[in-house]
Amino acid sequence: MSDQAVNILLIEDNPLHAKLVVRLIEGEPQLRCTLQSAETLADGLAILHAGGIDLVLLDLVLPDSQELETFFRVHTAAPEVPVVILTAMDDLKLAATAVEAGASAFLVKSSLNAVALGRAIRYTLARARAHTAEWDSPMLRLAQQQFLKAAQIMGLDDNIRQRLLFPQRTQVVTFPFFRDDRAQVETVFGYRVQHVLTMGPTKGGVRYHEDVDLGEVAALATWMTWKCALMNLPYGGAKGGVRVDPTVLSSNELQRLTRRYTAEIIEFIGPDKDIPAPDMGTNEQVMAWMMDTYSQQVGYTVPTVVTGKPVVLGGSLGRREATGRGLVYMIEAAARHTGLDLNGAPAVVQGFGNVGSFTAKFLEEAGAKVIAVSDVSTGLYNPNGLSIRSLMDYVAENRVLKDYPEADHLTNAELLETKCDVLALAALQNQVTAENADRIDCKILAEGANGPTSLEADETLNEKGIMIVPDVLGNAGGVTVSYFEWVQGTQNLTWTLDEINGRLKQIMLDAFDRTVARAAKDGIDMRTAALVEGVQRVTEAKLLRGVFP
Ligand code: NAD
Repeated sequence: MSDQAVNILLIEDNPLHAKLVVRLIEGEPQLRCTLQSAETLADGLAILHAGGIDLVLLDLVLPDSQELETFFRVHTAAPEVPVVILTAMDDLKLAATAVEAGASAFLVKSSLNAVALGRAIRYTLARARAHTAEWDSPMLRLAQQQFLKAAQIMGLDDNIRQRLLFPQRTQVVTFPFFRDDRAQVETVFGYRVQHVLTMGPTKGGVRYHEDVDLGEVAALATWMTWKCALMNLPYGGAKGGVRVDPTVLSSNELQRLTRRYTAEIIEFIGPDKDIPAPDMGTNEQVMAWMMDTYSQQVGYTVPTVVTGKPVVLGGSLGRREATGRGLVYMIEAAARHTGLDLNGAPAVVQGFGNVGSFTAKFLEEAGAKVIAVSDVSTGLYNPNGLSIRSLMDYVAENRVLKDYPEADHLTNAELLETKCDVLALAALQNQVTAENADRIDCKILAEGANGPTSLEADETLNEKGIMIVPDVLGNAGGVTVSYFEWVQGTQNLTWTLDEINGRLKQIMLDAFDRTVARAAKDGIDMRTAALVEGVQRVTEAKLLRGVFP
């Protein structure tokens, strides 16, 4: 806590409850607060408008406002001020909905005590501070809301909940690299985030994109933790990134950027510490440069410091196509589960990079008819089916899909709403939202990208009966074959492609079956079921290891 007193506004109409809160706050030695009280929303809003409030404790049922409306009016009046809901036992569902809508936490009045109240206030303030600037990312908010929803359903211990909400370690670096003209020095931000170190080394890709920030990398690292745990891999989650547009850089510029980024985070990574891999904007070549830079620094070759590297440098057969292949294994499993015949089934794929292109290829091989694909440059549509081989050749030559001749053109928004049986999202986050969820017209929505669907959209899609294969399950093929690459590297042996694909399929189908069974048993959606599976494994490990010291 800072030395400054915290200004708390309590909006509560029940005088007994208000008195209890005042007494508890005054009796909590770790808090230095001033407290103002209001019995109606109108009085509360007047105090809020006057300014200076750090946190609101809010009863949702007041004489002049009821339920969620109460929260929304407070939140609209002061969006930057965190709100903790005070709820009665029989209004728990309402309080949980308010948290999903943006409230920081809730406390049950009948079990209120000084420790719980003090903790909620301190953590909420810490979280609100962390949410400003670099941390303030819609993706982190999504990852945290998904986690809190799963935690709520599984009744997760509050100690573990607080511990897992933010990553364990983050490193922010700024560094320069020369542009090709040798006159310009570009300085960029880079990140490496390790979410959970409990499970073994940490593992996660490196993203080069102009929107990367600490919050986005933290969200991706958090999802990596649940993904590795769901797949039973001996890793915690990590992620890295550089805020740069790689499409405007030459190969030489990318190499200089990569080598300097690696040098900046070198203390953080290592085959037993944290193992990077490719993600958006990076590829096998970038991994080769990272591995070479690390090896130059330590003085001998260390292939296992990265995965997703070229096969000739110790990469694994099947890694390049693993994420797309795994996603199609999951689409086939979802089709079996829902009774959908994939033969001739119309499929749409958003994104035509590593994940999207291989997803389209394997969907075609599985008998589906890929009628639309897109990338950053355009969308393509052909109701008779596109030739994926021809599209891959075109992109290899032209870098993007733009001007591909044998198809009609459509926008990414139109592509998402195209009627199909399978919609695979393999580009960016935040693609299916409250705005367009209603118009999504597919039977299976498979997430190759991380975080492509918002929480509100999830609800609409579930109501429409669309089977969602969530990202932590759908795109786990990449990290699973990365794990195989690391195991082969540490043991100096190689597996055949058949062995790799067979093991990948077995691991992913096992995770699919566990997720479906959990969803059915607990009456929850697929995403929450997958997260509960992952969070439960991490929780078990954390409890067994205990708190140091
Ligand atoms: P990539 O850079 O190879 O490809 C990204 C694709 O998305 C490109 O075709 C690009 O043109 C397209 N794209 C970018 N902006 C777009 C927009 N506004 N509209 C439509 N398309 C757009 O990246 P990738 O490795 O294929 O990663 C794609 C997604 O999959 C990311 O969310 C990533 O985190 C996730 N993912 C990747 C892996 C992996 O092994 N590469 C593993 C797990 C998850």
